[in-house]
Amino acid sequence: MKCKRCRRKAEVHLRQHNSAFCRGCFVFFLQRQVQRAVEKQRMFTRDEEVLVAVSGGKDSLALWDILAELGFRTAGVHLALGIGAYSQASTEKTEAFARARGQRLITVRLEEEGVAIPTVVAATHRSACAACGIIKRHYFDRLAFEYGFPVLATGHNLDDEAARLLGNVLHWQVRHLAKQHPVMQSTHERFVRKVKPLFRISEYETAAYAFLRGIDYVVDECPNSVGATQLVYKDALNRLETVMSGTKLAFVQEFLRTGRQAFVGHSGGVPETCTRCGAPAFGSLCAFCGLLQEVEAKRQRRPAASSASETP
Ligand code: SF4
Ligand SMILES: [Zn+2]
Ligand SMILES: [Zn+2]
Repeated sequence: MKCKRCRRKAEVHLRQHNSAFCRGCFVFFLQRQVQRAVEKQRMFTRDEEVLVAVSGGKDSLALWDILAELGFRTAGVHLALGIGAYSQASTEKTEAFARARGQRLITVRLEEEGVAIPTVVAATHRSACAACGIIKRHYFDRLAFEYGFPVLATGHNLDDEAARLLGNVLHWQVRHLAKQHPVMQSTHERFVRKVKPLFRISEYETAAYAFLRGIDYVVDECPNSVGATQLVYKDALNRLETVMSGTKLAFVQEFLRTGRQAFVGHSGGVPETCTRCGAPAFGSLCAFCGLLQEVEAKRQRRPAASSASETP
């Protein structure tokens, strides 16, 4: 098969787009796809500095690389989750990536904050992923606001969005369906806009991009991901995709184009303010402070002051 753009020998085959590219043209193609998504969905402008949430995995590092290569002003934010060797490797890879490209990186070590994932799990009845989701959302929102960024970008890809959509549909989570969109505008003074520039890019494509760009990312999955429901949905969608190429893209795209309209107005309204930390909340406490209360009740202590550090 020949490269669609330059007619040289193709190395990356994209079934859902019914096309194939050589290495150089694939990198170009993917960067342009992301640029188009950013522009079409009005995610951010070239005047805005984008804070990229980076885990050390292929998607978030590929996203940071793409945005920087496209000439957007970027900085990274990373949470060291405290999940043993996995977190250690994630932090090392993220820091090495930022150093090599001279990019600014904000790192928060959850152990120093008193909320490392294993600590929280041991002190509450929550699953690791439930606790982790609440903590990540809280810190990313908080750091983006406190450091004055107008927009926070995450590396959620097409597979993530399709799996999330399937889960929301299977359980008819109307509130979540109303909110599922690649651009989440601010609904509270302490919320910055949140965007997903990779929402049309498949996991296969980000993996190929990371490989071709020589990005050194954490290959191992988090040990807590074993048996995660999200993976079951991804597996089901992958089976459909094998038989019907383009299913994931059509599922997400058509939901955004037509299906989502049915749920607008069910988003649960605008959030109030957490009486403890000032973050957006549905109720008197935000989800993070609710979690902290559980930890404190068990441990009878408050978390240490913020330990954010910044490089370079
Ligand atoms: S698998 Fe669960 S615990 Fe691990 S990083 Fe993801 S959400 Fe956090
Ligand atoms: Zn080519
Ligand atoms: Zn709070």
